[in-house]
Formats: sequence, C-alpha cells, structure tokens
Amino acid sequence: MTTPYDCVVLGAGPAGTTTAALVAQAGFRTLVVERDRFPRFHVGESLMPETYWVFQRLGVLDRLKRSSFPKKYSVQFVNHAGKESAPFYFFEADPRECSVTWQVLRSDFDQLMLENALDKGAECWQETRALDVLTEGERVVGVRVQRRGQPPQEVPARVVVDATGQQSFLAHRFGLREELPGLRKASVWTYFRGAYRDPGIDQGATVILHTQDRQAWFWYIPLPDDITSVGVVGDTDYLLSGGKSPQQVFAEQVSRCPAVARRIEGAEQVEPGPGEPRYRVIRDFSYLTRRPAGPGWVLVGDAFGFLDPIYSSGVFLALVSGQWAAEAIIHGLESGNLSAEQLGRWAEPLRRGMKWIHKLIRAFYTPGFSFGRFIRAYPQHRNNLTDLLVGKVFHQEAGRIFDDLDPWLERLTATGSAN
Ligand SMILES: Cc1cc2nc3c(=O)[nH]c(=O)nc-3n(C[C@H](O)[C@H](O)[C@H](O)COP(=O)(O)OP(=O)(O)OC[C@H]3O[C@@H](n4cnc5c(N)ncnc54)[C@H](O)[C@@H]3O)c2cc1C
Repeated sequence: MTTPYDCVVLGAGPAGTTTAALVAQAGFRTLVVERDRFPRFHVGESLMPETYWVFQRLGVLDRLKRSSFPKKYSVQFVNHAGKESAPFYFFEADPRECSVTWQVLRSDFDQLMLENALDKGAECWQETRALDVLTEGERVVGVRVQRRGQPPQEVPARVVVDATGQQSFLAHRFGLREELPGLRKASVWTYFRGAYRDPGIDQGATVILHTQDRQAWFWYIPLPDDITSVGVVGDTDYLLSGGKSPQQVFAEQVSRCPAVARRIEGAEQVEPGPGEPRYRVIRDFSYLTRRPAGPGWVLVGDAFGFLDPIYSSGVFLALVSGQWAAEAIIHGLESGNLSAEQLGRWAEPLRRGMKWIHKLIRAFYTPGFSFGRFIRAYPQHRNNLTDLLVGKVFHQEAGRIFDDLDPWLERLTATGSAN
C-alpha cells in the first residue's frame, strides 16, 4: 500500500472533475480514476444557465466563451399538434450574462473540465477501472482499481467520491438505488449534419417536441460544426418493446412527429465520433439514492441520482453536487471529521431543488398538461417558470409557481380538466 491520497474521485465526468478541481485547489492530494480514455463520447449536451456559477468558481468561463459551443438563449416547446410555444428566453427573467449558456459536445466539454482539474493539481489515471472499495468496519478507506494491462492495485484514501454516473458504483455496492415510479423511460438518439436551425439567437435553442400521440418526445440540440443531436424519449415498455432495432424505433417516432421530420429532412446522419454507432440506446436511467454519504465516502452527480433528461438538469446537478460535496470534503479533511453527516451535509438542500425539478417533470408527463395553457391562466408565473428552466431551483421565489401548479395538476389528474 502507498501513502493515502486525501481524496480519490471515481469518474471524470462533470461531477467528478468539479469535486477534484476544488479539493485539489484547496491543497489536498487528489486522484481521479477514470475507466475510459478521454476525449470520450457522452450523452447530456444541453446545459442549464445556472451552471454559470460553478463554471465561474472553477475558473472555466473564459475557456467556454472561447469554445465553438453554440450559445443557448432559450428553450422552446412544440406540442403534439405541431404548435410552437414562444421561446422561453432565459434573459427575460434575468438580463445578465449568466442567462446565456452553451450546447456542448460532451467529449470536448468533459476534456476541458478534466484539464481544469489537472491544472488545479489533481492527478488522473485514465483507462483505470474502480473494482471495489477498501473498508475498515463501516469506514471506506480506499479503492481497488485496475489500470489497463496491469494487475489490480489498492489505493488508500481518506475520502472516496463516487462520481461514476449511471454506473453508480458505490450505490450498487451498498444497495442504495431507488427507482422512481412513473419514470421508467428509455431513449434512442442519433446525430445529423445540416439539420434545420432557427435564425438569429434561436439557432442555439433546445427544442422539445411531442409526438402526435404524446407517447414520446424529442430533444433537438444544436452542436458545433452544424451537427444536431436528436433523441426520442418514452416509457421503456412502449419505446423498446417488440424487438425493433434502434433505427426502426427512431424512424417510427420521427414519422409520428412531423415537426422533427421537417427539421431533419435532407440532413446527413453522422456518427458522433470515429467508430461510434449511429444510434445510441439507454434505458431506465432515473433513480435516487437512499443515502448520499457514509464514513469516508460520498456520492455526487448521477451517482447520487438522476431524474429525467427533459429539462437538461443533469450536468447542472452534477456540477452543483460536485461543488457542494467538495466544500464538505475540504472542511472534513481540515477538521478531521469525515463522518457521513459531514460529507453528506449538502444533500438535503440539493434534494429540495431536485424535488421542484421532479414536480415539473411530472407536469410535463401528465396527460393533457400544457405549460402554454397554464401560463395563460397564471401569467404571473411566467418568470417563475423561466427561472426554474434556468436552474434557479435553490431560490425560494421561483417555487411560488407550485401554489397554483400543484392544484392545477391534481384537478387535471382527477377530472381530466384543470378548470
Ligand atoms: C437520454 C439522456 C439525455 C440527457 N441529456 C442531458 C442534457 O441535455 N443536458 C444535461 O445536462 N444532462 C443530460 N443528461 C444527463 C447527463 O448525461 C448526466 O446527468 C451527467 O453526465 C452526469 O455527470 P456525472 O459526472 O455525474 O457522470 P458521467 O458524466 O456519466 O461521468 C461518469 C464517469 O465515470 C466513469 N466511470 C464509470 N464507472 C467507472 C468505474 N468503475 N471506474 C472508473 N470510472 C468509471 C465513466 O467512464 C464516466 O466518464 C441526459 C441523460 C440521459 C440519460
């Protein structure tokens, strides 16, 4: 066994590299263990504007501004009948620079975030898989890892951070995962070059489009080099039953969504990277965990929980949990208190914010619900809704929308009508 690292972070996605950058910057010996070799493909390309504050803290805003990532000023919804909502421009509720964000190519974005963690003093072992944790009683005291082509080795650590995303390495090992009722979803997605772009500042918008039967919805995310990410999401049983190929599933859903069919007409379908398959499939990605931390360990990002892709909240929550966990770890390392309470002290506020996002997700999936109709009935909540779409889920004011949205949804669910 070698000298312990202060902090070993498993996974170099946005959650892991945020935690690693801040803990290393505070002067603690930090190692990131990453299974893949970067740059590597990843889903999750559309950011929420409130990511701004974590980027500012990490010192990566200038790099993002210099990047070729399209700027995202708004999100727009297209209903099952093809009717387009007015774009929800984030700057309408808050005209500052922080109301504009980016659509990122995750291979480049995650590389940028990793480089930043390395610049701040973290080490990274790529192509290294976490195999198991080392324990002394209840306490996690390190990890067993395997570097490519080498035998497994033990790496002692004062704190182990699980940032392995959907793999949720520790949550699986400790049996902490809880499925989310009503959110057993799947997705099939692919990429096009030369697909339609709206003009002006709308060219970087995320567009969310329902299929005609409302059984599924599409994301439409503009990326650099005239590439657009187009994915369909629906109940797993609905989307993936019947033994169809991903290509068939995608084509069938496009035929049920003329607004997407029009946008990709004549565009060239492309692989997201050399050797990558044209269609990607993921299923049953929504879950929460029962505990965020234990003695010597803590979960961040998707390893802590993931709700649904509809509002593009995944990377935002990964960054915020990564930052808040880093603050708890730094304080814990300084004070010698690496208890579950100390390492997981940020989790309740995060869960409260996630609860609001969860409510908006439920609204989106409630049959007959339309944000347009709700906002016409309660125009005073338009800015609250925009705030939530921006990611202001830790600000009390935005939550006022639920005073009227909760009863509206109850009436809609009970009677089929909100009036
Ligand atoms: C269909 C779909 C669409 C989405 N769209 C969006 C979107 O538009 N916007 C958005 O913000 N979010 C989106 N998300 C969510 C987003 O992808 C995640 O929330 C985000 O990537 C979480 O970051 P993370 O750092 O927690 O995990 P990840 O980014 O998944 O990083 C985890 C890392 O851990 C590594 N790893 C895994 N296991 C091991 C191991 N045993 N040892 C070592 N390393 C390991 C992996 O290689 C990976 O690099 C989407 C999710 C889905 C399912």
